[in-house]
Amino acid sequence: MIAITSSTITDERIAEIVHHIEKFGVQAHVSRGTDRTVIGIIGKAEPKLAEQLRQMSGIDNVIKISKPYKLASRDFHPEDSVIDINGVKIGGGELVIMGGPCAVESPEQIDEIARLVKAAGAQVLRGGAFKPRTGPYSFQGIGVEGLEMMAQAGKKHGLLTITEVMTPEYVDVCAEYADILQVGTRNMQNFDLLRKLGQTNRPVLLKRGFSATYEEFLSAAEYILAGGNPNVMLCERGIRTFESYTRNTLDLAAIPVLKSLSHLPVISDPSHGTGRRELVEPMSKASVAAGADGLIVEMHTDPDNSMTGDGVQSLFPEQFAKLMQDLEKLAPLCGKTFDTKKEPVSIS
Ligand code: PEP
Ligand code: MN
Repeated sequence: MIAITSSTITDERIAEIVHHIEKFGVQAHVSRGTDRTVIGIIGKAEPKLAEQLRQMSGIDNVIKISKPYKLASRDFHPEDSVIDINGVKIGGGELVIMGGPCAVESPEQIDEIARLVKAAGAQVLRGGAFKPRTGPYSFQGIGVEGLEMMAQAGKKHGLLTITEVMTPEYVDVCAEYADILQVGTRNMQNFDLLRKLGQTNRPVLLKRGFSATYEEFLSAAEYILAGGNPNVMLCERGIRTFESYTRNTLDLAAIPVLKSLSHLPVISDPSHGTGRRELVEPMSKASVAAGADGLIVEMHTDPDNSMTGDGVQSLFPEQFAKLMQDLEKLAPLCGKTFDTKKEPVSIS
């Protein structure tokens, strides 16, 4: 249920209303907008509460929300959420580009790729230290040492970092080294992991499960939000369909749909979404045109010899740099800003 206040309501009146709501043993979340404030009520609210709220001064309307996700929904939070990490604002109108290898392989590899990612104008370095592989005999990532290598490279080149965390036990160590924690497609419904991420304050990039509906996706985000971490971004990374030419089918419609159902930033992953290098550039541009707040793109200096199978979908550094140049021109046409000459981020 949400209560929509009048545009002239004072902070004192909102506090009184919240106090009244909490007497019913439910939670009240206040979302202040520029022309109205929404008070979201979470928990089993008695019909009596709805009735009382309707009569209270300062309240214009009370609406029942039947969706299984509340905190993730735009009804509860009409304005876009902006996640500010050291001045990089995700969801705030600036296109945010995360680039780098599928996996961290060595200090030299991640340092050189970080240099190229930075030189091309991106803001975030990606790289997996713990890799979710379909088979147990494939390369599983180099673990904590990889986190250290990536944190060093990020700091040296003025880039934020993002890495995947696969189990609740590794959340703290990944949060110690990386600025953003990634939940992979295979873990979208790992509820213990999501609950643990709700207890950290590190921003989380939640990837859509490859067979998940929008409602399941947003319900997974709700686990993190309900745990107390408001810094969640959604990532469309392709779904499984009957088509086998591409590795996955990048669901471009997910971008505007998620932006309308939710206030959370939406990031697109054209690398895993297609599995083919030659499709990364057009699908990156299409994602930006569809309203994505950012992209996560694989890039490798020697993709033919990458330690995961993802070399085939990794851009060469020159292709990555060219894509950034093109996006700088495209972004303003899509209501975004993107400046490839921006000063380095200072990483503490
Ligand atoms: C990745 O980003 O390298 C990855 C494994 O992604 P996904 O979970 O989308 O397959
Ligand atoms: Mn990958």
